[in-house]
Amino acid sequence: MSSTPSQPGQPAESTTLLSVQDLQVEYRTRRGAVKAVDHVSFDVSKNEVFGLAGESGCGKSTAAHAIIRILKPPAYITGGKVMFMGHDVRQMNDMELRRFRWRHVAIVFQSAMNALNPVLSVGNQIKDVLRAHTNMKPDETHERALELLRVVGIDTKRLGSYPHQLSGGMRQRAVIAIALALNPEMVIMDEPTTALDVVVQKQILQEIRQLKDEFGFSILFITHDLSLLVEFSDRIGIMYAGELVETAPSQEIFNSPRHPYTHRLMNSFPTIWGARQELLGIPGSPPDLITPPSGCRFHPRCELALADGTCKQVRPMLIDVSSKHRAACHLVEQQLAVQKETVP
Ligand code: SF4
Repeated sequence: MSSTPSQPGQPAESTTLLSVQDLQVEYRTRRGAVKAVDHVSFDVSKNEVFGLAGESGCGKSTAAHAIIRILKPPAYITGGKVMFMGHDVRQMNDMELRRFRWRHVAIVFQSAMNALNPVLSVGNQIKDVLRAHTNMKPDETHERALELLRVVGIDTKRLGSYPHQLSGGMRQRAVIAIALALNPEMVIMDEPTTALDVVVQKQILQEIRQLKDEFGFSILFITHDLSLLVEFSDRIGIMYAGELVETAPSQEIFNSPRHPYTHRLMNSFPTIWGARQELLGIPGSPPDLITPPSGCRFHPRCELALADGTCKQVRPMLIDVSSKHRAACHLVEQQLAVQKETVP
């Protein structure tokens, strides 16, 4: 891993790898249906890092799990399309799904301790994946397991180590090694560094970016920490209460966020790279998604909500702020209309 990682925001190849269109997921509970993901659409290009950010419970992880169809009841996909390299994931049978999940898309979860089997050595866990999905001979799986440990920066002497014998950072690297075992085109990373201290977090993020450049996979990165995502990803989607409310290149989200929720989210976390700043937080708490607020779901917490009641009554749609920047907010609509009138 000697190459210099690419910088976030550098243009990725424009080939669309994953296309999520109008995705809807609900949790069927006794109290009613929780609309956890509501008409969410986004694309991820080849070799791109696309980040999904938002508070806990906003639907970002549910959307990611729906993409690879690992949701379990009471969660159900109720609408929309997920296309991966032109294949409709919702139409795949069990056999196709099995191949899709490891060969084409792998997932790295937040807690490596939960993702790893405590009674199997790290080496055997890598070999298990190779044995289950390839025709490799025992000596080939052994060589590949060693290679994967090297790739993620774990000493190959650790091949026989059990998860509890590794540090938190090493365990997360081991999970990444397993995810990369079959050279997938995309890796979904669901809060992969949240459980780690800030120094190890920074180190692992740099290494993940190097690996992405070296092997050419795309990343769908899920986190509640927007400042981390700005540093790490090329493009960002912001989710609030099950909806995608803003999407733009990461530097544009950082320099000129348009949605009031994005503004607030940006000021809720200290940056792990930048200078100290005063944190503002977000007043109130996310809504109950069985009976979400009418109109804009953020209106009960938004200090900029329009006084004429539009925000309370009318659901804002995602509109183009610029060619690569979209936001769902009535205030932004108004600002764009004024801009149009004043620019000859
Ligand atoms: Fe705030 Fe209204 Fe924009 Fe919603 S639509 S974020 S309530 S200004």
